[in-house]
Amino acid sequence: MIILDKVSKTFGKFEVLKNCSTQVERGEVVVVCGPSGSGKSTLIKTINGLEPIDSGRIEVAGTDVWAAETDLTKLRAKTGMVFQNFELFPHLSIIDNLTLAQRKVLGRSKAEAKAKAEALLERVGLADQAPKYPIHLSGGQQQRVAIARALVMDPIAMLFDEPTSALDPEMINEVLDVMVELAEEGMTMVCVTHEMGFARKVANKVVFMDKGEIIEDCSGEDFFTTERSPRAAQFLAKIL
Ligand code: ATP
Ligand code: MG
Repeated sequence: MIILDKVSKTFGKFEVLKNCSTQVERGEVVVVCGPSGSGKSTLIKTINGLEPIDSGRIEVAGTDVWAAETDLTKLRAKTGMVFQNFELFPHLSIIDNLTLAQRKVLGRSKAEAKAKAEALLERVGLADQAPKYPIHLSGGQQQRVAIARALVMDPIAMLFDEPTSALDPEMINEVLDVMVELAEEGMTMVCVTHEMGFARKVANKVVFMDKGEIIEDCSGEDFFTTERSPRAAQFLAKIL
């Protein structure tokens, strides 16, 4: 479903991604972890066309992401992305946050977009928040809205970049619960996260990055049970 083949990228002279290859099968949950600055955010952004690459190839459901003819707006709708800081539109109500792209990108009617938005809000437990503005919601609620906003587009995969790291501890689980549910329903997911409880529960695969390189790419089970590379072991010892 998602293929990264020898992806490299530099910022000036700095090699942020070095020859990164991995694959995500349909319905798989892949957790990406690693030290700060190792390139996790950059890597995940290359998948939905937010960060151009210098060499290599990325394919999402058969589409070559970086081919000239690829419609990146459509691709982004199909690969819902959720960021650390929610990134909701502050000047729009929750319901408008959820209908805008449906109407503009997918051309859905107002009624259709609204019905879809309401269904997804219900699903993340926020049906009663529709008329409010993002600022009136807690961080955990905003992040669940951000997930719903990605889901209304009927994505074929979801990309998460540290979705819980800006949240107060008591709100982390309400977001992780939604993510676990999605995973259990068979959504294809790439999650940059250091929530190892989540990883243990649902990750089919763990990718460990360090200094722009993919150092480990193994099953979730192997990552937590067998002997790791010294760099991964050192990292795990710090966060567990
Ligand atoms: P964190 O855990 O802190 O989120 P990360 O693994 O997500 O880190 P990236 O954000 O991908 O790391 O950044 C990797 C490296 O690339 C960092 O050293 C960062 O400073 C650098 N970098 C990221 N974006 C740019 C940019 N636009 N221009 C120059 N350097 C950048
Ligand atoms: Mg990051």
